Amino acid sequence: MTGLDWMDAAACKGSATSQWFPSSGKLSARNLDAILLCRTCPVKTHCLQHALEHAEVGIWGGLTDEQRQAMRTRTPRQPSPCGTSGAYRRHNRAGETCDMCRAAESRRRRQHRVTS
Ligand code: SF4
Ligand SMILES: [Zn+2]
Repeated sequence: MTGLDWMDAAACKGSATSQWFPSSGKLSARNLDAILLCRTCPVKTHCLQHALEHAEVGIWGGLTDEQRQAMRTRTPRQPSPCGTSGAYRRHNRAGETCDMCRAAESRRRRQHRVTS
């Protein structure tokens, strides 16, 4: 899925916008319905990721502003960027293939072999 394609599969597509914006931090019954809908949404992870990256307001990925804020401050550190050995190991653990990280890793190995 690229860009905002995931929005096409959103469970909330076509629902009333007001449902997704709690007023003054207090959740109404309609807001809670929205959160329950998010739980069944096939693109929940994309949605949450998007909201975290773009500092969106309202309910996204089943979480309120406050909950996402708490999540952000709880996240100990950003994952290592692609090209580092940390990222290479992260991809491996997740069973992902990343060309950039693989190229960087083999470059590191070659250098290691040359210098040792
Ligand atoms: S997770 Fe919730 S807010 Fe996000 S797309 Fe799905 S239903 Fe909509
Ligand atoms: Zn990578």
